[in-house]
Amino acid sequence: MKITEVRAVYPNYRYVVSSWRTHFWQIVVRVETDVGAVGLGYGGGGVAGVEIVNHHFRELLMDRQINSLADIASTWDHLYDQSLPYGRKGLAIMALSGVDLALYDLLAKAEKQPVYELLGGAQEPRILAYATGPDSEAYRDLGFRAHKFPHRWVSDADYETAAAAAANARQLYGADARLMVDCYMSWDAQVTKRMADILSEYNLYWYEDVLTPDELECQADLRAVAAPTLIAGGEHEFTHFGFADIARADALGLWQPDITWCGGITAGRRIIDLARDAGIPVSPHRGAEVWGLHLIAASDWADFAEYHSDHIRSPRDLLWLGEPEPEDGYIAPSDRLGFGVTLNEEML
Ligand SMILES: [Mg+2]
Repeated sequence: MKITEVRAVYPNYRYVVSSWRTHFWQIVVRVETDVGAVGLGYGGGGVAGVEIVNHHFRELLMDRQINSLADIASTWDHLYDQSLPYGRKGLAIMALSGVDLALYDLLAKAEKQPVYELLGGAQEPRILAYATGPDSEAYRDLGFRAHKFPHRWVSDADYETAAAAAANARQLYGADARLMVDCYMSWDAQVTKRMADILSEYNLYWYEDVLTPDELECQADLRAVAAPTLIAGGEHEFTHFGFADIARADALGLWQPDITWCGGITAGRRIIDLARDAGIPVSPHRGAEVWGLHLIAASDWADFAEYHSDHIRSPRDLLWLGEPEPEDGYIAPSDRLGFGVTLNEEML
């Protein structure tokens, strides 16, 4: 089938605070074809991402044939090469992610399959989910069996707050539950070393984003200090080229690509291939959203899905309709065609 139209839109989000992290500047990409099949994807980059898709990628995509996974991969390579002078990481790859996911949705719908079937089929009937956010007890009450709490280090008093949060979570979830902490780049090497000492009794699964993604060597050094807790990260890294740098530096013990930012499923599959070769587990950022969930479902190397608290507690815009909900702490993609979601057109 031939691509006949491409359009990116920044939705009219209503529940927005000043931080970009409320909606992560997510954009919608729609691809139309000459056989009537339409693909929808979710990318990043906000209005800048919209400009890149509508005023650069569109002209590169028009009239291209999409009939196979190989066609999607070669399209990805073409867009990556053409945007390389201003791209490689950041906004351009966030925009490319939306295009790539729309092409996956398109091809799966044309072949009358869910995306995970297009990728080879579900490896497990359901995927263990973890709840991310500060309300440890509320998520436990909703049935979650794994949990990640946020922590921001500002002063020495925050060693106490981290220990208290970890103790609370361990008491709520039990001795064997996977528990994690996300410091969002607020720790440094010294803080991480002391935290590893203080938190060791709580047996956390990983410390996430202890440093910035530019500090690969330092994170590599911290892996031994933190062990057996893993140093995790990768939501701010892009493409298999970026993750190859992480692999060469041996910087992280668990990788967390965001499938709507890192280059879509095409990049996600290549990143997972690198991780498998390196023996590093992968748990995609926001992996319980359909874009990551279908990849996890079909993968033999990813089996743990992040469910964000803004999907649970706060008022939020329902942009995608039909998203699967966790049950008893597990989640599974629906067997509807493509990614199995429809767009709430009122938000465009
Ligand atoms: Mg994070």
